[in-house]
Amino acid sequence: MPKFVLIGSGLAGGLLAAYLGRRGYDVDLYERRADPREGNIVGGRSINLALSTRGIHALEQLGIADEVLRHAIPMRGRMIHPATAGQAPIFTPYDVDPNKHINSIGRAALNTTVIEAAQRYPNVRVHFNHRCTDVDLIEAVAYLETSSAAATVSAANQQLVHARGDAVIGVDGAFSAVRQSMQKKLEKFDYDESYLAHGYKELTIPPAPDGGWQMEKEALHIWPRKSFMMIALPNPDGSFTCTLFWEFEGPRSFATTKTDDDVRRFFDEEFPDAVPLMPTLLEDFKQNPTGSLVTVRCAPWYYKDKVALVGDAGHAVVPFYGQGMNAAFEDCVVLDECLAEFPDNRERAFAEYFSQRKENADALANLAVENFIEMRDKTASRAFRAKKKLDHLLEGLLPGIYLPLYTMVTFTRIPYATAARRAHVQDRIVYASLAVVMLIAALVMIRLIV
Ligand SMILES: Cc1cc2nc3c(=O)[nH]c(=O)nc-3n(C[C@H](O)[C@H](O)[C@H](O)COP(=O)(O)OP(=O)(O)OC[C@H]3O[C@@H](n4cnc5c(N)ncnc54)[C@H](O)[C@@H]3O)c2cc1C
Repeated sequence: MPKFVLIGSGLAGGLLAAYLGRRGYDVDLYERRADPREGNIVGGRSINLALSTRGIHALEQLGIADEVLRHAIPMRGRMIHPATAGQAPIFTPYDVDPNKHINSIGRAALNTTVIEAAQRYPNVRVHFNHRCTDVDLIEAVAYLETSSAAATVSAANQQLVHARGDAVIGVDGAFSAVRQSMQKKLEKFDYDESYLAHGYKELTIPPAPDGGWQMEKEALHIWPRKSFMMIALPNPDGSFTCTLFWEFEGPRSFATTKTDDDVRRFFDEEFPDAVPLMPTLLEDFKQNPTGSLVTVRCAPWYYKDKVALVGDAGHAVVPFYGQGMNAAFEDCVVLDECLAEFPDNRERAFAEYFSQRKENADALANLAVENFIEMRDKTASRAFRAKKKLDHLLEGLLPGIYLPLYTMVTFTRIPYATAARRAHVQDRIVYASLAVVMLIAALVMIRLIV
């Protein structure tokens, strides 16, 4: 059987190793960090994530969905927190069907589950503390340094490892070393990255003294404040992980908020109901890093039958649709299907995988940026809640015919690009129908008055 060298055992790396292992391929998975099961934080990314239908489907194919969902907390809708102190938050369900929900899961637990699923196959080997520095695209060799993440490895003891396979797959995230090798070495490699003007910082709402949750547990909490926002997702231990998405620069921004007084004043003004629940706010704000939010588009995601990119390595998106990991998991399903369809022609399998996924990854990138505007600004408005009610009404009246965009993206496996196109058409029909109804109503009124 051919041998795959996988770089990166984040969320998609572990899952892909399990898929390839199941097909009987020989797999060596290299990860620059230490083993997450040794208590090392997965680090650099969010503590918890929203898992939805696409991701669950990918886990189901390997029989590990139940194992993952056991640790998940269902989030049945958005809980919108107004800026005015004393005003109660407003809940908007995600779907007309109350059973449809997204799931808050811990990144570290999920990472461990997928790695362990891969290790159940004797033909999969996982090597931690190995950082890929370069890839020979023609020979399918990855060059790796045993990483200094293992504190015991001194610079002198660092080894250079040459990992040779029939193919190397970059599952090494938004700043992929495998992708960088493709950028450097391929003449025709399109690459585009764009950063939002906003960064993010994670903060904590600890459990209540009795170990319970201090806010509604089964909701994704949003504090929309037009140009910025904070969100909070529940954790199984009773805490919430809050993420503040805020401008890096500007009169009120991360850059200008330096002292404890600045931080306290900003939070008191903007998130008055959250502040009493955040006893470690000042420490969290100072100690936790401010992350950046990048969209990466590139093409192609493969080189001959030698190299391919999966997950964020090929298409990092901003997190506002809660789909980056779900899309990365969907990549694994599609790549697995393509390898099964063309077992003797890996280049064809890679090409087919790329052609199925690229358009959808691009569509998701656009949807994710657009949803930032919706979450931080529109969710606070009556018009938004009215549109959601109308969406749910039409979904109930026209089952299977009318599907709101959020439902298609989150609760179905309709390809992202198809969902975006379909929602556009639906919206045009709905708005045109509303205009006609209003016109008729106006004519009737005029008739009655005259
Ligand atoms: C704040 C935030 C919130 C998010 N929330 C959600 C959400 O709710 N739902 C959702 O679906 N998605 C969410 N995402 C997106 C999600 O985190 C990513 O899409 C997902 O992690 C992609 O998985 P991946 O395996 O491709 O990359 P990663 O999970 O980033 O894994 C890459 C792995 O490669 C390793 N690596 C990197 N470079 C090297 C190297 N040179 N050599 C060896 N190993 C290397 C890394 O250590 C890491 O383990 C969020 C992202 C952010 C930033």
